[in-house]
Amino acid sequence: MLNVPSQAFPAPSSQQRAASGGRSKVPLKQGRSLMDWIRLTKSGKDLTGLKGRLIEVTEEELIKHNKKDDCWVCIRGLVYNVSPYMEYHPGGEDELMRAAGSDGTDLFDQVHRWVNYESMLKECLVGRMAVKPVAVVKGILLKSQVSDLPAKEISPSYDWFQTESLVTVVIYTKQKDVDSESVIVDYQDGSFRAEVVIKDHSYLLHTELSHEIQEDITVRVAEKTGKVEIVLKKKDNVSWTYLGHPLENHNSFTAYRETGLYYRKCQLISKVDVTHDTKLYCMMLPPATHLQVPIGQHVYLKQTVAGTEIAKPYTPVLESLNSDLQEPLHPPDKYIYFMIKLYHTGHFTPHFDCLQIGDYVSLSSPEGNFKKSQLQELEELFLLAAGTGFTPMVKLLNYALTNITSLRKVKLMFFNKTEGDILWRNQLEQLADKERRFEVEFVLSEPTCEWTGKQGRISLPLLSEFVKRSVEDSRVLICICGPAPFTEQGIRLLKDLNFSQEEIHGFTAY
Ligand code: FAD
Ligand code: NAD
Repeated sequence: MLNVPSQAFPAPSSQQRAASGGRSKVPLKQGRSLMDWIRLTKSGKDLTGLKGRLIEVTEEELIKHNKKDDCWVCIRGLVYNVSPYMEYHPGGEDELMRAAGSDGTDLFDQVHRWVNYESMLKECLVGRMAVKPVAVVKGILLKSQVSDLPAKEISPSYDWFQTESLVTVVIYTKQKDVDSESVIVDYQDGSFRAEVVIKDHSYLLHTELSHEIQEDITVRVAEKTGKVEIVLKKKDNVSWTYLGHPLENHNSFTAYRETGLYYRKCQLISKVDVTHDTKLYCMMLPPATHLQVPIGQHVYLKQTVAGTEIAKPYTPVLESLNSDLQEPLHPPDKYIYFMIKLYHTGHFTPHFDCLQIGDYVSLSSPEGNFKKSQLQELEELFLLAAGTGFTPMVKLLNYALTNITSLRKVKLMFFNKTEGDILWRNQLEQLADKERRFEVEFVLSEPTCEWTGKQGRISLPLLSEFVKRSVEDSRVLICICGPAPFTEQGIRLLKDLNFSQEEIHGFTAY
């Protein structure tokens, strides 16, 4: 049923083509080639309409999705929403509609068993067919009554198993797009806490382990199936009869914002001057913590000042923008860098700056609404930063230049008061020299008379000249961060310049 997309495969004389029963291809509209389909599947667009959830589909539910604009097909027990694929199907829409709302496995096998539909339709996966419950009455098996319930969301679950020396806790998220950054693990004073962030929800395991473990914990994530394995090393080679005693909110699945921020104590490893009032601080995570702050997200740092707990948000940066420093001073999975400006009259920063190397400060789990998928297939990235609003741009810039192959241009416009306030100026200029896709422009609001560069604050003339698509219709993203009036004004101006909401990301407190 799903036609082979390539003209060259199978070869015209092959058995496979013969088996297709002379099925003919229909001309596809412009922009509906296989490459266009692949591009669409990688765009981060929600192709199932389920926002990344996988569901259990009953037969009754499947039958309902039998129209071109709402077409589900089951192949070998997996259900796909093929509506987005209709126009890309080389065999035409009618051919695909033959299996609408039903089990298309046989049709599929008759036509072309060799198509790697699992990979082609990966982003269209809705879920699995539900196994029909079977009722037993007085020893006779009865087929259950047809239920008219809507498709049921599958919530995560967990299991554990052990060998002589290891205990492996397995979390089945049943979700796509779960990666190592989605998993946060802590082990402190016998309490084991594993949290998996799934879209805007969080699944939590929280238990007092039945036996002691060593401090090195390994986390493995199978991204395709959403299976998370957390491997714990036993302290003593004894058999565990149970994992542990449940603690607060154990085995719960709640909205992430309702879970409350969890803090662990981190040690200050180093502090280095960046400018006259800003320093680069390196913090070390506890040995039994697995935590990676996703790009564009921030954490809270918390300390007790005069008997009161004060927490402020900070966005981790890299140790340096210069990737020639091949071997980072500290392994990135255990150390977090912050670039923090000191405000002498501030509530938090003067006390933070008093911390000595070796002192501890509490660090929260990450939050923020930036998604890496916003960078997928991106062609031009514009970054507008003011003062320490530069911090989210650091990892973003590095990630985009390293991982986004479609990217043609990254332009940073960096607003500061004076030349002495510009953070990592040398590193930015060096990066612009060696990386042809990167450009940086500094704008000063309080320049000396020697300054020959751009002057002033964020304005329409500055933006209309700087934030321009180099090619009509190119896929752009504009990220903006700085003092709230700067960010708000910038977003307004960008909208006046006809950039859409999706093309603008303003970094603000969550
Ligand atoms: P505050 O007590 O907030 O004071 C800051 C300044 O405002 C001082 O000069 C103070 O005198 C003045 N002030 C305070 N109250 C008033 C008032 N009522 N009227 C007039 N002036 C006042 N900062 C960084 O340096 N690096 C980062 O990576 C970073 N990331 C952030 C991420 C997010 C999501 C957000 C929202 C902010 C981020 N910040 C960052 C800013 C940071 O959270 C703090 O706001 C900043 O460090 C100031 O904290 P403070 O308590 O020392 O100063
Ligand atoms: P700053 O006072 O040194 O100002 C830097 C530049 O911002 C100025 O040169 C000017 O061009 C612009 N600016 C300042 N006030 C403005 C206003 N009222 N209207 C328009 N433009 C203005 O900046 P700073 O002390 O480094 O402060 C940085 C700000 O960025 C803080 O408010 C901090 O909370 C925020 N920040 C937010 C995030 C985030 O949300 N993710 C991350 C880091 C920093």
